[in-house]
Amino acid sequence: MLRYSTIPVTPFQQNCSIVYDDQTREAAVIDPGGDLDRILDEVERLGLTLQQIWLTHGHIDHAAGSSAMAQQLGIPIIGPHEADRFWIDGLPQQSRMFGFPAAEAFVPSRWLADGDTVELGAHRLQVRHCPGHTPGHVVFHSPDMKRAFVGDVLFAGSIGRTDFPQGDYDTLISSITQRLWPMGDDTVFIPGHGPESSFGAERASNPYVRGT
Ligand SMILES: [Zn+2]
Ligand SMILES: [Zn+2]
Repeated sequence: MLRYSTIPVTPFQQNCSIVYDDQTREAAVIDPGGDLDRILDEVERLGLTLQQIWLTHGHIDHAAGSSAMAQQLGIPIIGPHEADRFWIDGLPQQSRMFGFPAAEAFVPSRWLADGDTVELGAHRLQVRHCPGHTPGHVVFHSPDMKRAFVGDVLFAGSIGRTDFPQGDYDTLISSITQRLWPMGDDTVFIPGHGPESSFGAERASNPYVRGT
């Protein structure tokens, strides 16, 4: 079975998740934005072999640790969608602006597109392109776990900011209603920040998307 462990990292308390097969102990990390020592301590504590980095989008708190981790472990960076290339190219400037440790730009081993899958051992997660917060934002959905790792698309009680370059409110709302809701009301999502919730709970009570 797939399992996961979520660790808030960076001053922005970004939810970095380690997804793993509980038998083979193969693992992928979603959004290693920083605090790599803490992430790798958790990998060791769980007895995992980290094989891949999966990225939801190119913002500093999600992507900044990727290049260092990929080089240190010799593993690929997969995602996000290529429309976030300008954010990843801008990581050195983002790190100066937000007072983060110096972050390197990189080119992922593989860009992702809507309908792609990522594989961890015998398991597959579905990739959906969910622009609006950033143009190249993707989410990772595991129908088996009934979980979706949604980055900064949707939060418990809120939605992602759309005031960044190439952000767009209407696009974000349609990403949520057209690409997240079909995963089912009982799907639990792990947002980029803050507590987990379910799509059904957000459809009932989130003021931005209530009743959609
Ligand atoms: Zn973001
Ligand atoms: Zn974020």
